[in-house]
Amino acid sequence: MNTPSLYDVIIVGAGASGLVCALQCARRGKKVLLLEKEQQVARKVLVSGNGRCNLTNAHVCVSDYFGTPQLAQSVLHQFSFQDCMAFFHELGVLTQEEGLGRVFPLTGKSSAVVEALRVACVENGVEIRLGSEVKKIEKKKHFLVSLQSGEKFISKYAVLACGSKAYPQVGGTENGYQLAQSLGHHIIPLTPSLSALNVKEKAVSRLQGIRAQVQTVLGRGTDKEIRTDGEILFTNYGLSGPAVLNLSGVIGKALSKGPVSIEINFFPQIQDIQSFIEERIKRFPARKAKDFFAGMLHENIANLLIDFCGIKKNVLVQDWTENVIKNVSKTLGAWPFTVLSLRPWTEAMVAAGGVNCAEINYNTLESLRCGGLYILGELLNVDGRSGGFNLHFAWGCGYVAAKAMPEE
Ligand SMILES: Cc1cc2nc3c(=O)[nH]c(=O)nc-3n(C[C@H](O)[C@H](O)[C@H](O)COP(=O)(O)OP(=O)(O)OC[C@H]3O[C@@H](n4cnc5c(N)ncnc54)[C@H](O)[C@@H]3O)c2cc1C
Repeated sequence: MNTPSLYDVIIVGAGASGLVCALQCARRGKKVLLLEKEQQVARKVLVSGNGRCNLTNAHVCVSDYFGTPQLAQSVLHQFSFQDCMAFFHELGVLTQEEGLGRVFPLTGKSSAVVEALRVACVENGVEIRLGSEVKKIEKKKHFLVSLQSGEKFISKYAVLACGSKAYPQVGGTENGYQLAQSLGHHIIPLTPSLSALNVKEKAVSRLQGIRAQVQTVLGRGTDKEIRTDGEILFTNYGLSGPAVLNLSGVIGKALSKGPVSIEINFFPQIQDIQSFIEERIKRFPARKAKDFFAGMLHENIANLLIDFCGIKKNVLVQDWTENVIKNVSKTLGAWPFTVLSLRPWTEAMVAAGGVNCAEINYNTLESLRCGGLYILGELLNVDGRSGGFNLHFAWGCGYVAAKAMPEE
């Protein structure tokens, strides 16, 4: 039997973190083998940002991360927003910044980012093998990496960049967790994150397809209260859009104790909604409810509000009782929904949970359980908000690990 040739580094997974790590290792003179189970590199990155790839965010900071934010902070310290922009510009990717600091490739297509990385990897001598699923990694003097096909490779360093189990339709898998466990790591339980919410109130389907700028509030009045401003999208099953996606990691954990209440404030910019409604009644006293809400609320939201508050449709607003005014104001400022569950893994953009970061060196991303092994990206117990933060973290991990690996 032929002895397999020795690589400096074998990287498992040619996604966001794996491609950057491979490129940076090769640039530093290492002999790199990048193994990818799919027939294409970075399938998840290709579908990211609705096919446009929101690759980073100008406002990225530690508070954008959950799970183990301290590890994210160490990565951000070594790979800032400016570093990220310089990295991609140097690769030839033209970018544009949009609202809320989100950065996209100028071409409007994620392939601009993926192809720039892939081409640079090839130009720098990275050996990329597609359709190569890693089944087993053993550590003796070197790492012995075995593929599903039975083929074997050896290397001085090994990198797990397998991503999470979210979105299996574009390659999401549990492989990475299993490989990490086989090398001595523990997994913090996984829950879908950046996931839409199934709610109990069936009437929400009457709002299907409507988007609104709102504030969502979790745990009002408690010391765990969280408020998120942004766009909400109503669906036939419940709630989606950045304003709820960003809360889904926290909600996912809370759901283990039962249904979770969430409130929607349709007018976060108005301090006192009741005074606002009373003023409006003075301006349009002779209107009935439906006409009263015209110009202020989407028609379907107004209709649902009228039913929800039990407003009599033929009564003029000047004849609304104090109770009706209070009820309308309260509902517009804190419309309650009951979350029953998150949408399934096929719809969650990322996973909360993952490899326990207490077992990782925050500065280098080297395993504290298995010397010479590096663990990157979404496989770790770090998840970010929506807005380019997850990709920034993944690129950053690849960059940090490559920098930390000893010189040849
Ligand atoms: C629909 C969707 C939209 C998103 N949009 C955005 C966005 O706009 N901005 C943002 O910041 N984030 C976004 N994300 C999240 C972001 O894509 C991920 O966080 C990021 O790709 C994670 O990078 P990674 O390197 O950890 O894993 P991945 O990029 O998922 O790469 C892992 C790779 O490893 C391969 N692999 C796994 N196991 C093996 C094995 N055993 N052998 C060989 N190969 C293996 C996989 O096939 C995959 O190619 C989105 C995610 C989804 C699903």
